[in-house]
Amino acid sequence: MGTLHGIPWIVTREIRLDLSRFGFALDDAQLAMREAADNFARTRVAPGAAERDRTREYPLELVHELAQMGLLAIKVAPEDGGAGADNTAYALAMQAIARACASVAVILASSNLVANVLDAHATPDQRERYLQPYARGELGPAAFGLTEPGAGSDAAALRTTARRDGNDWVIDGAKHWITSGAHAGLFLVFARTEADRGIRGISCFVVERGSKGLAIGKDEGKMGLRSSGTVALHFDDCRVPDSARIGAPGHGYALALEALGTGRVGIAAQALGIGEAAFAEGVGYASERRAFGQRVVDFQASRFAIADSRADLDQAWLLTLRAARLLDQGIRAALESSMAKLCATEACGRVVDRMLQLHGGYGYSEDYPIERLYRDARITRIYEGTNEIQRLIIAREILDQ
Ligand SMILES: Cc1cc2nc3c(=O)[nH]c(=O)nc-3n(C[C@H](O)[C@H](O)[C@H](O)COP(=O)(O)OP(=O)(O)OC[C@H]3O[C@@H](n4cnc5c(N)ncnc54)[C@H](O)[C@@H]3O)c2cc1C
Repeated sequence: MGTLHGIPWIVTREIRLDLSRFGFALDDAQLAMREAADNFARTRVAPGAAERDRTREYPLELVHELAQMGLLAIKVAPEDGGAGADNTAYALAMQAIARACASVAVILASSNLVANVLDAHATPDQRERYLQPYARGELGPAAFGLTEPGAGSDAAALRTTARRDGNDWVIDGAKHWITSGAHAGLFLVFARTEADRGIRGISCFVVERGSKGLAIGKDEGKMGLRSSGTVALHFDDCRVPDSARIGAPGHGYALALEALGTGRVGIAAQALGIGEAAFAEGVGYASERRAFGQRVVDFQASRFAIADSRADLDQAWLLTLRAARLLDQGIRAALESSMAKLCATEACGRVVDRMLQLHGGYGYSEDYPIERLYRDARITRIYEGTNEIQRLIIAREILDQ
């Protein structure tokens, strides 16, 4: 049994669960990925997580190390510089990293969104120019630029424009809430190229770091994920060549939705990582703390909180593995991915709340990791499609297919 912040790192059911009984046997590559990510999370990511949360310092060095391991382009083939892993391995790695630090996990998530779009849609020239140096870790993290001040859930309402000028496109507008925006080597930017106000008017571009006309806003003050470097991007006559356009003109929105569809499994796994960390903290604390002459963990109310939390995490984990496995089999899994994201993030919310309650007043103190986990958990119900949007997708998949 290892330790996290000095508290026993409880070997959870998730690790002991005989997944093969549910058709979820992990292959050697998936087990190796889980072990590598878990080792890195314990030895490199966890030790500074609380301090980075306090200082809001972006973990650039860790991100470079993750890039060297191929984790910023986890599904990209090794010959292109990535880890060549599948969606299940991605979920396992994400869960392990998030358990140590949710900020590092979201950097991983948004960088992999970019890698997946490039991997699926870049031309051979674009692979050589953008994807390979990025996947080899030469460019640092990548940023996914979809959300705007007036277009979040309704991303198709985005107003950033890209105007054709000879062989170039000239981008004007603003993006908000962009993870890693101040540190990214390349940005995937979605902009309106046609007069059409609907989704068919949106195209996708790579904008390189340092491009003229790209200005980076200040770090947003946030409730949680404080070291993930969330900024606004401003485009003012930012010129990119037509060769930086990914996919056909007008197909950008489809590329964004495709990436977010599989990305949801990653957010589910991120929430599970936060939930597992909270579970370990809560059980560890309640096993030590005494009240009325007995351990807090021995009160029946505490046991119910622990039992409900374990059940919440395990059922969400099974839904997440199901979605990842379907994606690995090349099966469209919009329904299952949205269910995984919805259930895992809501389970995480319940678990962090119960585990904080087990801490009593100390759970409200910055001196205990549960306080950060409680704050970090909240965003998982909001980004990469709020849970209201996930419910709309689930209902649409059931009723309108
Ligand atoms: C820390 C952080 C990191 C982020 N990183 C990135 C990033 O890297 N790249 C990026 O592009 N974006 C990023 N985002 C943006 C994120 O994806 C959006 O915040 C999210 O999609 C919600 O959009 P919004 O904030 O505009 O909320 P809104 O769309 O304004 O939603 C407000 C409320 O209305 C609800 N609502 C909206 N439409 C409906 C509907 N049809 N039915 C029912 N309810 C509805 C929502 O569920 C929500 O509760 C990040 C956000 C945060 C906070």
